[in-house]
Amino acid sequence: MVDQDIEELAGLVQRARRAVVFTGAGFSTECGIPDFRSPGGFWTRFKPISFQEFTASEETRIEAWRRFFVIRETLAGAAPGRPHLITAELVGRGHVAHVITQNIDGLDARAGVPSGRIVELHGNGTYAKCLECGERHEIDWVKAELDRAGRPPPCVACGGIVKSATISFGQAMPEQAMADARAATFKADLFLAMGSSLQVFPAAGFPVSAAQNRTPLVIVNREPTGLDGLASLVINRDVGDVLESVMACLAEANH
Ligand code: NAD
Repeated sequence: MVDQDIEELAGLVQRARRAVVFTGAGFSTECGIPDFRSPGGFWTRFKPISFQEFTASEETRIEAWRRFFVIRETLAGAAPGRPHLITAELVGRGHVAHVITQNIDGLDARAGVPSGRIVELHGNGTYAKCLECGERHEIDWVKAELDRAGRPPPCVACGGIVKSATISFGQAMPEQAMADARAATFKADLFLAMGSSLQVFPAAGFPVSAAQNRTPLVIVNREPTGLDGLASLVINRDVGDVLESVMACLAEANH
């Protein structure tokens, strides 16, 4: 797949020194993790539980944890795919400075992107936290307590509500991650939004900011998004195929 769009994207990547790779669920679908909005995705099976619903009722918390353990099984069985591995390579070559991800699967780190270069906007699904005091709790402990008592355990430090360290709809965004994402977006010389429907805000505000800063914005997604009008280049194809072709183009140019 070498055509004008791929050559243009390869040229942009080749010249970039501080690119941001901004990712959504579509970045990990080739790893067997379904996205949210496509048929068969989580949302077509489960209506999302908001933060307010989670905190309001223990019954809802039990259901939220039940769903979390279903998702966790899928995450545990997944390995990094081409999008993650190629991004790690581009970080190593000095073209990409930061990955800003909406994903909670931890696959960027497992592909070799250094943790200081990863901004997790929607948290991380590998551990849990107390909503009152912030104490960290391990997921296996929550599972064992839930199985034993039939209800989610309270925080051992303060008795508060324990929740996976992911961000639900209606929950405040993590301040440090938002600040890091703003800084990376401000400094970026190229902004690549890949595998995201760009419908979830405030996360989707970062590609908007990049375009407002006149940073070239490239959107790679299987289907059109509402932000395509802001982009200098839109490629509606599989992100793994696109990145693989970009790498082939770069290899060719270096010969
Ligand atoms: P989304 O489901 O709204 O959008 C994913 C987009 O990726 C869709 O437009 C889809 O057409 C496209 N897509 C799917 N596979 C693709 C591929 N191989 N190549 C190119 N495009 C592809 O997801 P979102 O934009 O990330 O927003 C929804 C929320 O879902 C986020 O907050 C995220 O935290 C959460 N989520 C995360 C995971 C994960 O951690 N892997 C999985 C599901 C949902």
